[in-house]
Amino acid sequence: MRIDIITCLPKLLDSFFNQSILKRAQEKNLAQIIVHDLRDYTTYKHKQIDDYAFGGGAGMVLMIEPIDNCISHLRAQRQYDEVIYMTPDGENFSQPLANQFSMFANIIILCGHYKGVDERVREQFITREISIGDYVLSGGELPAAVVSDALIRLIPGVLSDETSALTDSFQDNLLAPPVYSRPADYKGWVVPDVLLSGHEAKINQWRVDQATERTKVRRPNMLE
Ligand code: SAH
Repeated sequence: MRIDIITCLPKLLDSFFNQSILKRAQEKNLAQIIVHDLRDYTTYKHKQIDDYAFGGGAGMVLMIEPIDNCISHLRAQRQYDEVIYMTPDGENFSQPLANQFSMFANIIILCGHYKGVDERVREQFITREISIGDYVLSGGELPAAVVSDALIRLIPGVLSDETSALTDSFQDNLLAPPVYSRPADYKGWVVPDVLLSGHEAKINQWRVDQATERTKVRRPNMLE
């Protein structure tokens, strides 16, 4: 999968994509993440990419021209499954969407900033608008990182234990069961006996029971 991220703050994303699972996914060629600096695509003087909103009011708006240049440049080279704009008024991101998007070959993610992007960008170029929650951040970089991370870890071969993503919360409409590691007794706080029993069927049943109970208490709507 190839993800092209368009941003006016590329440095914000560099370190995020160069650590741990996402770094390894790129090294194994399972994912390609290319960050584009919007300022490289403007023809305005002083690399300007934003301007005041017509009609007045506080806050700058990312202009359409550099965004058009960047998206058109990318689209001339390959077909994209979606051109996604991260925005608080978009469709709420969720595990089912992550599963669906993880099958894509190429996507573009546009990060807004300040007041957002010129509305004509959304009308003309964007095929999907995604929010990571009902709150407002200062830029689309963290949301783009959130979405990219959720997709890339689902690509087969990215996680070392292939089944690992399948036992996470929201797959199978259940939250994940609790997990424990060494020591089995820490200050008298002990790990449930069954996990130390070596009895695989019993352990699996315990995990399903715990996951179901946790889901009942924390996300009852998932069981409906
Ligand atoms: N004026 C806009 C908010 C702009 S916030 C409004 O009220 O709807 C600046 C940028 O941050 C947005 O363009 C978007 O790319 C990003 N952003 C902020 N909150 C977000 C969220 N919850 N989900 C996705 N992107 C978000």
